[in-house]
Amino acid sequence: MELDLDHPVCAACGVQYEPGIDRSICPICADDRQYVAWGGQQWTSLRRLAADGHRTEVREEIPGLWGIGTTPAFAIAQRGLVVPGEGGNVLWDCGPMIGDDVLDRLRELGGIAAIALSHPHYYSTMATWSRALGDIPIYVHARDEQWVPRRDNVVFWEGERREILPGRTLLNAGVHFAGGTVLHWDTGVDGRGALCAGDIFTVVPDRRWVGFMYSYPNLIPERPERISRALDLVLPYRFSSLYGAWWGRIITDDAHGAVVRSAHRYFDRIGADAADLPPLPRPSSASGAVGTPS
Ligand SMILES: [Zn+2]
Repeated sequence: MELDLDHPVCAACGVQYEPGIDRSICPICADDRQYVAWGGQQWTSLRRLAADGHRTEVREEIPGLWGIGTTPAFAIAQRGLVVPGEGGNVLWDCGPMIGDDVLDRLRELGGIAAIALSHPHYYSTMATWSRALGDIPIYVHARDEQWVPRRDNVVFWEGERREILPGRTLLNAGVHFAGGTVLHWDTGVDGRGALCAGDIFTVVPDRRWVGFMYSYPNLIPERPERISRALDLVLPYRFSSLYGAWWGRIITDDAHGAVVRSAHRYFDRIGADAADLPPLPRPSSASGAVGTPS
């Protein structure tokens, strides 16, 4: 399998483009949800990253859930997840590095049947991943079509929800990006359901909470109406765990309550009307919840 070793990869966001792109700027980094590094736009490639010692890391995020990242860390440093179920594994988000070693490891884990992306910052080398895995479909929400750097095998899906394989349903939460998507996994590793959230709902260092931002690096808050719409869409689904975009950024109990409490805390801080949100759940000792008990 010949990988696209020399296609340009933005050194700041890790997204791989077609060779003919205007190299003066990466469109994803020029947007105010990202930034151009102080030294100016820089490009690399899979070949140069490998020469610099980067490799793909595959390890269990928690028992039963495998993650795929790039080590040493590169660009935004997100890691993807291998979400299992009937009909094959889904690769949820992906990182830039890819090599024969990781493809062998993924075959041992049962292969990958489809790729799905949360938003443009994690597109990375998705077209190369798809081709290397047998030209499998890449699900991207149509509302983010303008950001797609390479269209090979991309399936633009529309609407609020789409089950791409049994038990794995994409939800267009629309936070952070209009096409911002989370993946509901009906069982999760513990049978109680999980949300793979990328940084559409980002797990913050205090892992009892999530954040909702239009831009994380530039600290631009998300609009409250987008957050309340996202909660209306996501909360009818059952989930106790929530997996964020980086190693260790996971909530393993009462994630459903954590999302609601986090939205209330956010609305309180920005002075938005919490009447637009679902009511706060009763505090649970396991989650260390704070807030107004009903
Ligand atoms: Zn970029």
